[in-house]
Amino acid sequence: MAENKIPYKIYLSETEIPQNWYNVRADMKNKPAPLLNPGTHQPMTAEELEGVFCAELVQQELDNETAYIPIPQEIQDFYKMYRPAPLVRAYCLEEKLGTPAKIYYKFEGNNTSGSHKLNSAIAQAYYAKKQGLKGVTTETGAGQWGTALSMACSYFDLDCKVYMVKVSYEQKPFRREVMRVYGASVTPSPSDTTNVGRKILAEHPGTTGSLGCAISEAVEVAVSNPGYRYVLGSVLNQVLLHQSVIGLETKAALDKYGVKPDIIIGCAGGGSNLGGLISPFMGEKLRGEADYRIIAVEPASCPSFTRGVYAYDFCDTGMVCPPTVV
Ligand SMILES: *Cc1c(COP(=O)(O)O)cnc(C)c1O
Repeated sequence: MAENKIPYKIYLSETEIPQNWYNVRADMKNKPAPLLNPGTHQPMTAEELEGVFCAELVQQELDNETAYIPIPQEIQDFYKMYRPAPLVRAYCLEEKLGTPAKIYYKFEGNNTSGSHKLNSAIAQAYYAKKQGLKGVTTETGAGQWGTALSMACSYFDLDCKVYMVKVSYEQKPFRREVMRVYGASVTPSPSDTTNVGRKILAEHPGTTGSLGCAISEAVEVAVSNPGYRYVLGSVLNQVLLHQSVIGLETKAALDKYGVKPDIIIGCAGGGSNLGGLISPFMGEKLRGEADYRIIAVEPASCPSFTRGVYAYDFCDTGMVCPPTVV
């Protein structure tokens, strides 16, 4: 019989779910480049951003100083439905690789929406509700973010308008329908429901859409409908802040078992799960308390770290969003 391998999973108890998010920007000497006003090219002010985003999320977006931001009780209670997420020892992978390394992975898929996106979706829906808004708009590509947001909005009884990249809308009908089951409206993008959508359709008839088009449409709907704001599932500072719950739990679980990681690896698309996972470890590194090797893994098809230029650009096709460093 094989040797008894214990533990397969490191669980924390419900009371060990973090009560604060950790804002790694507080420990960064070089702060991230700010969002710019597309007209003046000056950093966007809170007032300007509040036309697009929920007020409290704007505060989080611009806060480069506060290291720990309390997680509101309602969000902590929601987290308890699927957190703490297990940290699993990958014995089979270790064996297959024949490596002496001890490999652990943090599993964020054990919630109904199926991804880490819910960690931020529930926070963003909470602040929208608290502000007394009617609803939120967003874009989704493959549908993970749209699904998580639909679920979060349904929990807080908020309207949710999702612009889904047309090709995904057609290729992934089940994703689309899950969002509708949660009560969201799902529109294939580009659509004729917005000015920017109509313009893109006129210029590129037959286009199957892109994330950039869908963002432009969602932003237009948010800013032109009273009681609506736009929310985003990746890239932003506020999203990374919410996703720090992943890293905080990982660190707490490893500390509980006296494991100190040498290497931390994460996949990076928009950077939110990677950033969330590494935040508390990076904080220790920045404060000179510990050292870790951190590896970001990116897709070869759209490498954002190893190729391209570090420069300001629009993240949407309609060029209505504040330019950000991409
Ligand atoms: C959210 C998402 C990403 C980006 O994830 P990050 O954790 O922000 O890097 C990439 N691909 C899909 C399908 C996603 O849903």
